[in-house]
Amino acid sequence: MDARSFSAGGSTTDMMGIKERHFRPLPENVSLEELVPKDNFYRHLEAQLDLSFVRELVCPLYANGGRTSVDPVVFFKLQLVMFFEDMRSERQLMSVVADRLSLRWYLGYDLHEPLPDHSSLTRIRERYGLEIFRRFFERIVEMCFEAGLVQGRELYFDATKVEANASLDSTRSRSLVEDRLGEHLTGIFPDEALLVQDKDTPVIAAVVGPVGQEERRTLAHRNARQHRWIAQAGHQKREVVRWGYRRMADLRMSTTDPDASPMQCKNKGSSRLGYQTHYVVDGGKARVILDVLVTPAEVTENLPMLELLFRSRFRWRLRPHSVTGDAAYGTVENVAAVEKAGIRAYVVLPKHDERGPLFGKNEFVYDAERDLYICPQGETLRRQGLDYKERSVRYAARPSTCNACPLKTRCTKSKKKGRWIRRSFEEEYLERVRGYSGTEPYRKALRKRQVWVEPLFGEAKDWHGLRRFRLRTLEKVNAEALLIGAAQNIKRLLTYGQRGPKRPAQVAALRRSSPYQYEFCSVWKHRKRCAWRPARVFQHAEVFSETPIAPVRQPQRTGAMRFSGLSLGPNGVALGGYSRTA
Ligand code: SF4
Repeated sequence: MDARSFSAGGSTTDMMGIKERHFRPLPENVSLEELVPKDNFYRHLEAQLDLSFVRELVCPLYANGGRTSVDPVVFFKLQLVMFFEDMRSERQLMSVVADRLSLRWYLGYDLHEPLPDHSSLTRIRERYGLEIFRRFFERIVEMCFEAGLVQGRELYFDATKVEANASLDSTRSRSLVEDRLGEHLTGIFPDEALLVQDKDTPVIAAVVGPVGQEERRTLAHRNARQHRWIAQAGHQKREVVRWGYRRMADLRMSTTDPDASPMQCKNKGSSRLGYQTHYVVDGGKARVILDVLVTPAEVTENLPMLELLFRSRFRWRLRPHSVTGDAAYGTVENVAAVEKAGIRAYVVLPKHDERGPLFGKNEFVYDAERDLYICPQGETLRRQGLDYKERSVRYAARPSTCNACPLKTRCTKSKKKGRWIRRSFEEEYLERVRGYSGTEPYRKALRKRQVWVEPLFGEAKDWHGLRRFRLRTLEKVNAEALLIGAAQNIKRLLTYGQRGPKRPAQVAALRRSSPYQYEFCSVWKHRKRCAWRPARVFQHAEVFSETPIAPVRQPQRTGAMRFSGLSLGPNGVALGGYSRTA
């Protein structure tokens, strides 16, 4: 041992130690089970989250024989590790896993077992495709339902811009790049190029069946023309041009990531390539994310909103009472569709008419009986005609009246025509939403939106890599965002799962009794119809019986409490039964 000692002023100091580097082979009886601390986070994750369902999801993608692949459960566990450790590459992930005992334990790989290669993870991800990642996300949402974390009464919409993994310098003229891509693809897949040209015709023929059913044929053609944001992985419909406006993304295209489009960065003061990530979040305490969609950055929030809303509603059989979003969602089309569906649209309506120095539309009073407007001077603006392009009715005052009016300078700049205003075909729905704006539920919903959805984006960006996508193209960034959304929901499962009630029926029973009996009944009936009922979400979940039983009169005072069932009282309020086991 090479060591030295010093003494100063007659006093003795500690001798400096020098650590020798010497490693012996590990003994056979050392186990990872003992080496990983009992309170390690990944032990908690393994105990709470059963991922065995993913084998069933991906089973059709594997052959019955041949070389054994990496376990799909291991693949998804690695994706979760990447999320929790905020890592940006599979190569980095595997080097960290090789280095950490707790990660090896979580994946089920012993100290001497070789780990999967990082390139295998890329190949597995490409084999699964977006569909498997969406189904994985949805299964996690189902777990949140089973754990009673979803309220389903209020839905919150928001979107955030996320930078793409490509530089703005990689953009070229879209026509040039697409021609080159087309040539390249035709060279590789000559047979498929012919199929793409008349892709719609055989699909529609298959849907409508024999010729002659004109009504169904028309409907099928109309449906085929509609743009499906989710089914088409958020792709923009570039052939649709509104009001002659050409987007920058219609003209320029990145050769590195062809689906990313230019966006303005608030903090960075320059343009970047990016995407728009849309979230639908439940209004319950757990803030469960119900749907995720990534679109090119130039797709504004309002465009996929209705599809996200109705998909969430029908996929999860929800009966939302209200939908909340900022001013970007307040378009006439969205407001009318939401209100027609019996849902309150708590959105901020833009006030285009009130911006200039002239009288806004709110200064004019509509007389529904006579179908005319009355101006601030008391004159009438009569109906002039319909504008189907703008979906509005046009009302105008007489030019002679306006020319003689003392308020003309504050009302119109036209010298030959009188003042005119538009009334949307859907104006009654807009007026209904304007009526909400003074109410406390509306103000509360907008306040809640700021602390419900926006912090979820902050969390994903600051801690889990959503500030910049690591993958490229829409299919892959959608898969990446779905994984992040699913893992954020898993965090809620871990946080609330043990403390909150375990079953939706229990949640309904513990919730304050609703004045509307149908609300509880519908939730209860819906849960009974649910296809996804296995209670394997939490491996140690209590067994639950939905069979209504009579309330227990005198429970025994020994043993553990056990939830035994529910029954409905005469007023529709749930009566829960607890019994004690011996
Ligand atoms: S300018 Fe015409 S519409 Fe405007 S206040 Fe005067 S009379 Fe009424």
